[in-house]
Amino acid sequence: MKTKFEIESLVRKNILELKPYSSARDEFKGEASIFLDANENAHGSPIENNFNRYPDPLQLRLKTELAQLKNTSIQNIFVGNGSDEAIDLLFRIFCEPGKDNVMVCPPTYGMYEVSANINDIQLKKVNLTPEFQLDVKGIFDSKDSNTKMIFICSPNNPSGNLMNRNDVIQVLEKFNGIVVVDEAYIDFAYESLVNLIEDYPNLVILQTLSKAYGMAGLRIGMAFSNKTIIDLMNKVKAPYNLNEYSIKQGIEAVKNKVIVDKWILEIKNEKRKMINALGELDFVLKINPSQANFLLVKFNDAKTIYHYLLSKGIVVRDRSLQVNCENCLRITIGTNEENTKLLNALKELS
Ligand SMILES: *Cc1c(COP(=O)(O)O)cnc(C)c1O
Repeated sequence: MKTKFEIESLVRKNILELKPYSSARDEFKGEASIFLDANENAHGSPIENNFNRYPDPLQLRLKTELAQLKNTSIQNIFVGNGSDEAIDLLFRIFCEPGKDNVMVCPPTYGMYEVSANINDIQLKKVNLTPEFQLDVKGIFDSKDSNTKMIFICSPNNPSGNLMNRNDVIQVLEKFNGIVVVDEAYIDFAYESLVNLIEDYPNLVILQTLSKAYGMAGLRIGMAFSNKTIIDLMNKVKAPYNLNEYSIKQGIEAVKNKVIVDKWILEIKNEKRKMINALGELDFVLKINPSQANFLLVKFNDAKTIYHYLLSKGIVVRDRSLQVNCENCLRITIGTNEENTKLLNALKELS
């Protein structure tokens, strides 16, 4: 539980004072039969389905489904064009270009650094431990009075493991800035921190429909936080940041959660199988524990394996240049058939 924490004091002055764009859909929300307020084409769209009307700027129907799914309320949910939109918005809300800094814990997701660079925000890097856990002391030694956000990815990409819950809570307790916990892979793991948004006003959780929900092409990302931060995100976002098609399909996807649950079980099963089979190969040196839908595997010679697999038409991700990832490839768990092909290709080598 965090008390005496003022979010407003962290927000850029221009954002606090910002008067957001007010769209036709913002200004009229009632029932009507003739909409002549938004310069839309009342005839329809020249394609199979009609998309001639502007979408709901706040995606309330989608958020209603998400609130139920995640056991939280609409006012605690932001929906964006992928979680990458949420990341960029957080920079624009909290970080003064050329002055503030944020902290990331490598090896981790690359988008935090790109977003920092785009927004001219300095980056402080505090590496994860060799076990890919948070270096809590290092984080506190390295932060300064301009450190506005700390990005924690859990399960972490590319290592696959969850961060220790107590370490994250320590950071939430002691850091008087925004703690962004990226849970893109949480559907494969056992413990989300979403319910902690009640206790920690500085916590923002990122999730997405891109991974377990299989909706990467439709770009639906989510942020969960207290109402103050969500309101700020809604104020700064583009008025119609999610298109009508994505909103509709997102609602469908959440309603079809049973299919996703089945896939998650299957992917976890396949992952177990892969861990066992990969472990038998003499050129596999280590497989990092994974709570995600991928494995970080250390080989004796990652580059050779990478190109060998490529010659067989199989692409994996070479992560060997990242900190503590020497000779590591990141392998996504695919279908049973795909995984078998990968294993057979590797077995041919040994
Ligand atoms: C894939 C991934 C995302 C991307 O999410 P989108 O919603 O597709 O933008 C975010 N964070 C991490 C750690 C990821 O691996």
